[in-house]
Amino acid sequence: MSRSLIFKDRNKLSPYYIPKRLPHRDQQINMLLSIYDSILRNIWSAYPRFTQIIGATGTGKTCTAIRFGELISEKAREEGVNLQHIYMNCKVDGVTRYVLYGNLVRKVTPKIATKSLSPEEMIRQLIDYLRFEEIFLIITFDEIDYFVQMSPKEHIIYDLTRIPEIHPGEPIPIVGEIFIARSLKWHDYLEPGEKSTLGINIIEFPRYTSRQIRDILEDRVKEAFQPRVVLDDTLDLISDITANPPINGDIRVGLELLYCSGVLAENTGSNKVLPEHVRRVYSEINPTITSEDIMNLDRDGKLILLALVRGLKTSKSAYVSLRDLRKFYNIICEEYNIKPVEDFEEHVQDLIYRGIIDMKSLTEIGISGATLVDLERFLNNLLKQLEERT
Ligand code: ADP
Ligand code: MG
Repeated sequence: MSRSLIFKDRNKLSPYYIPKRLPHRDQQINMLLSIYDSILRNIWSAYPRFTQIIGATGTGKTCTAIRFGELISEKAREEGVNLQHIYMNCKVDGVTRYVLYGNLVRKVTPKIATKSLSPEEMIRQLIDYLRFEEIFLIITFDEIDYFVQMSPKEHIIYDLTRIPEIHPGEPIPIVGEIFIARSLKWHDYLEPGEKSTLGINIIEFPRYTSRQIRDILEDRVKEAFQPRVVLDDTLDLISDITANPPINGDIRVGLELLYCSGVLAENTGSNKVLPEHVRRVYSEINPTITSEDIMNLDRDGKLILLALVRGLKTSKSAYVSLRDLRKFYNIICEEYNIKPVEDFEEHVQDLIYRGIIDMKSLTEIGISGATLVDLERFLNNLLKQLEERT
């Protein structure tokens, strides 16, 4: 492969890449450290601390939690404590206790076979294992708002905050739980008892301003692009677009704009990434759905979204009915030689909770934010992404 004149390392623009430095999130990281730092010195008598991280999409919640996890386990190691941070994402790791705990146990150790265990037994065995091995955990539960919306009857918070009571009066190996949500609205799904055990440690993640977005993207430009390829004007434009409505500071969109503008520059033989590239790319991306959202979908979710895109394109309107959506879905399943899911409507509900599709009524299903952009161009782009990733 010939060397790119535009990119040095395009992986540095992936939504999963976490840079060493997280500008404008020092305060949040320090707050987390101050909450969990103090337990390191007397970890054997520590009581668990629950923290909530609240902020809109693309405010750096996930990457900050992961970076904090690295920092705290490093500090623990210096104090001779084996403290591990486990990151769970409810959108990926499950929205029933059974599936979520199974994945939690697997992330900690392959030594516990979870298959025939109940959720309670999984946690009990995990605790026994941790005590025996003298391992302590801080667990982050990301997208917890999605979990409680999907499965309010699981009473996950009751369950998770009660873990310390399993062996009252003895050291507790799970010393911290961090819950990440997009807003405080997720409390509406909790019982009063759950809300009170959760406590009031809340760390807010404000939306990034244009200036802050520029700082973050500037770092990323240095890592991902060849020197002097991205013009200052280009960065200014991306930062302004990202900071203002309808994006409202979602840094994921800024990174995606940067990446796609680079690809466009490369494909059109330009040796600079220009504002003009950004403008063209912006007209084709969706303000609310990024490639990360699509990658996080399971196969059935992708196929239903694909069916919706095809349906919208065929009907040439902003909405299709649930009935038509099902028809398009069945056709797609035939094409891919896949058995249609039985709980189709639950899958549609899942896409709604993820904020990817909108359902105004049974006859009006559309794509969130899609009315804000040129639907045709956007749908073509989404279709391309879905077909590549299905
Ligand atoms: P959220 O979880 O709030 O939706 P993420 O933590 O997933 O946001 O951030 C999205 C992307 O933006 C990730 O690729 C992350 O690396 C990057 N990012 C977010 N905040 C910062 C920051 N302060 N500095 C550098 N990169 C950041
Ligand atoms: Mg996140």
